[in-house]
Amino acid sequence: MFNEIYEKIKKYDTIVIVRHIGADPDALCSQIALRDSIKLTFPKKRVFSWGSTSTRFNYLPKLDRLEEVSDILLIVVDTPDKKRVDFSFTTSIDYSIKIDHHPFVEKFCDLEYIDDTASSASEIVLELINETPLVNNFDIANTIFTGIASDTNRFMFNASSKVLGLCSRLLEEYKIDTQLVYSNLYTRPLTEVRLQGYIGLNMKVTENGFGYIKLFDDVLNNLSVDSGSAGNMVNTFNYIEGVYVWAVVTKDSKNDLFKVNIRSRGPVINSVAEKYNGGGHKFASGARIHDEEQVDLLLKDLDLACLKYIEEEVAKNED
Ligand code: AMP
Repeated sequence: MFNEIYEKIKKYDTIVIVRHIGADPDALCSQIALRDSIKLTFPKKRVFSWGSTSTRFNYLPKLDRLEEVSDILLIVVDTPDKKRVDFSFTTSIDYSIKIDHHPFVEKFCDLEYIDDTASSASEIVLELINETPLVNNFDIANTIFTGIASDTNRFMFNASSKVLGLCSRLLEEYKIDTQLVYSNLYTRPLTEVRLQGYIGLNMKVTENGFGYIKLFDDVLNNLSVDSGSAGNMVNTFNYIEGVYVWAVVTKDSKNDLFKVNIRSRGPVINSVAEKYNGGGHKFASGARIHDEEQVDLLLKDLDLACLKYIEEEVAKNED
């Protein structure tokens, strides 16, 4: 299918690349690397990466300003469902392509390439570049490596031999400064470290091995941390003995909704998140919920998922 995608890219003069709301490094890196590779290969094309971002990703190449365009080729990366695409869909789209590594949710593009065994959308963009005449260079390779390193949490998750091989070749060919990539991705303000300490001290852990914390304005203002950074803290609480699923609930007061970031190292959680209009991967999911009672029901369901997991593991051991 990569050749089919390449042929569409070749055909269109105006291409817009978008991804999910709540940008993260893989979403941004995959849309930016694809844009830059298309521009390098076809300098006359108008290619844009659109969407809102945050100052904490200032180390990445910039996104583009909105412009009047029509009859575009739209490429959506890293997003399984239309409602989560950071794009208004008011522009006239002639053809659309999805490139994603999430489990399938719905078809909303003309052509969809989905590989849910890929570590990241950036990995798929790298394969697309490697397997078609699309061109690579140091900056593009560096952006792709940043996306892969981030979504795999420095090759801790989904680090298949395939992605390790792809990255090994990238490092060899483009001499990427991995220390700089990691310092960009992982340097954080002292306020976040203090918040991490607060979470460690105050996280509630149920007897089924479900850990959670609610972080609302009172705590976040005290520690001078915004709710987006607080949600990302979910990534720092893996491998706690006896904790199988953990969640951070933050309140986005501006939009009056609760954001739940969930991670697991056993029970499948995306099916639980889906019940609350959320979704994601088997072991990394999220949901946005308007009503705190619904948040509490989700937390209860996650606890039950832990209990079911423990029971299944015990049964397996008895077999
Ligand atoms: P996060 O905790 O924001 O890093 O998200 C982890 C995974 O869950 C990502 O793959 C997201 O795409 C997915 N996810 C997060 N929030 C939602 C949501 N409200 N609806 C569907 N998927 C989500």
